[in-house]
Amino acid sequence: MKIIWTICALFSAVLCTMAQSQGWWMTEPISLIQTNLRETDSGLDAKKLVQEIKSFPANTVLFSVGGITAHYPTEVDLHFRSEYLPKGEDLVGTFIEEAHANDMRVIGRFDFSRARREVYNAHPEWFYKQTDGNPVFDSNDLYSICINGGYYHDKGIEILTEALEKYPVDGLFFNWFGNIRKDYFGRDIGLCHCDNCARKFMEEYNRSIPLEPDAEYEKFLFESAVQVAKKYRDLIHEKRPKALFMTYIEEYTDAIVSEADYYKWRSLPQWIYMGSEHVNRGLNTKPDKMVFDLVMPYQEMLYRFASTAGPGIRSFLYQNMAHGAFPAFVVLGTMDQPDKTALKAVRPIFQYYEKYGHEYVGQRSAARVILYARQDETWSRNSQDHRGFFRLLTELHIPFKITNRPQDFDPKKIDLIVVPEGKIPPALEDYIEAGGKVLLAGSTHPGMGLEPTVKLWENTTSSYMRIEDYTLFPSLKDTWATFWEGSYLELQVSPTPMTLIPPGQFGPPDKVDRLDEKTDKPGLVLKDIGEGKLAFLPWHIGQLYYRHSNDKHRLLIYDLINHLLDGGVQIKTNAHPSVEITFMHQPDQDRHLLHLTNLSGHSGTAFFDAIPMRNIDTGIMGDFQRVTSLDGTEILPSVYVDGYTHFVVPNLDEYEVLMLHER
Ligand SMILES: [Zn+2]
Repeated sequence: MKIIWTICALFSAVLCTMAQSQGWWMTEPISLIQTNLRETDSGLDAKKLVQEIKSFPANTVLFSVGGITAHYPTEVDLHFRSEYLPKGEDLVGTFIEEAHANDMRVIGRFDFSRARREVYNAHPEWFYKQTDGNPVFDSNDLYSICINGGYYHDKGIEILTEALEKYPVDGLFFNWFGNIRKDYFGRDIGLCHCDNCARKFMEEYNRSIPLEPDAEYEKFLFESAVQVAKKYRDLIHEKRPKALFMTYIEEYTDAIVSEADYYKWRSLPQWIYMGSEHVNRGLNTKPDKMVFDLVMPYQEMLYRFASTAGPGIRSFLYQNMAHGAFPAFVVLGTMDQPDKTALKAVRPIFQYYEKYGHEYVGQRSAARVILYARQDETWSRNSQDHRGFFRLLTELHIPFKITNRPQDFDPKKIDLIVVPEGKIPPALEDYIEAGGKVLLAGSTHPGMGLEPTVKLWENTTSSYMRIEDYTLFPSLKDTWATFWEGSYLELQVSPTPMTLIPPGQFGPPDKVDRLDEKTDKPGLVLKDIGEGKLAFLPWHIGQLYYRHSNDKHRLLIYDLINHLLDGGVQIKTNAHPSVEITFMHQPDQDRHLLHLTNLSGHSGTAFFDAIPMRNIDTGIMGDFQRVTSLDGTEILPSVYVDGYTHFVVPNLDEYEVLMLHER
């Protein structure tokens, strides 16, 4: 360690962070099963469970250790061992010993978000306090804990010290880290008004905790969680230098945890790219960390024993692998499930990964397009602008990486940056000046010398966009008006290939005659800036596509991107839009991996088996020596023409991966 830090003093901190973080989770093929144990599982047969997981087969287990319930004979005061733990036995110790003897890794799971009534009675100041002064407790008589209290800060350290000294864990994971403002039923519990929060917030912001969260409060809460994360990280790395620390936040962790699911309470339309989104964003915004995207089979928290359809669950596991992570699957309790369909559905992927997992290690996105990720809520699952563009790029087979790292904004490596909404981030201005292309949407003025705003139209329901220039939009040759609605930023007139047809074009049919009305209000602004180019759609096409999937909007974006890239898209293919294609690089092995995930089984809120596809013409930008199957035994005929290596993917059932070897 001392040598590394000396080198760090000499070279950049970034490189050194990378060098230090090459833990087992970055260099080994991981296939993970998470067993969320119940108290009643404390007496389980550890040897049997290890063998069941090993033969599934998985090589890493996320195993419950302590917090709400300790599955080992803890000696820490107010940390309660499970009543179902047989006297004289140590489930955690036995399980880890047995797993390690079978070459399996074990990541311990803790949950410090809740504690029993006895803990609350002893230390009410550790707990979440609602606006009315009452604690938050649930039907299981568990009380919610506040991130700023002594439980997370002191008791947690005491518990972890005991566990880390007793057990040679390969990592630790913390569930539900920080103050989450909803309970298990999804009910709002408001903000914590405990004395610790109140005092700390007053010291830092000189005011009381607000009733509703604002920017300062969000920052306060985020930093409160980060403080605890740093403490835990330091302790884990001190006691077990080779172990990883992971939770749902990105700061001070070695890996980022996310969950992919089809929970029934999520708003429609169903988001079928959740695994892709998590892994793509995680690995590209934090390239020195791994992403553990835990695939949840159950219908939701209220139905933990009822799983969703197998092909949908499998699709998340493929997405994890195709974006550079690995299969990770969650069961409540043991492998003995009342509904066996989910385990049965995902097992073939684990069997496949046992054979080929080593070929997946060290993947990095080779995409030449960036989907710009804002740090705030706009990237999240609630941002329709972001998700609309995510789908548009995916369905158009334009590989992209989600990131906001300025060091990635290099026009030599990145052909286009898509900003789904909002201002042009300052970091992108230099990129455009130096020759980069940016596609920006939304109703916020982007700056960068564009014409001034005339007016912000809040609601444009029953408007259209008139296509004026078909050389730019050849795919829209059979229409001259596309539907749109939502907010629109009218800029002063400039030459534009698309103009606004104002609101008012609906029934009764007798009166729908204003479509002929011509305006010069721009629907798209194209501007050369420095060596680069900005395309600004002053309306929310991402949101519209997320909700309505209008094909004219997809074609519009397709033509616009082709215009910006002079036709030089990275992949040319006739693959069906339901096939997700990712293009990954393995720099250490001088090769690329092309993944095709067949999501054609999705229909509405259902998942059926994917429809098999045959003979997919594919051209990849670049001159590759040969294209082979993953084990190298099958060589696909390929030809290099006009900058692209062309080949045919003969079969695509659910998932296929090909190797492209460099010359
Ligand atoms: Zn608090």
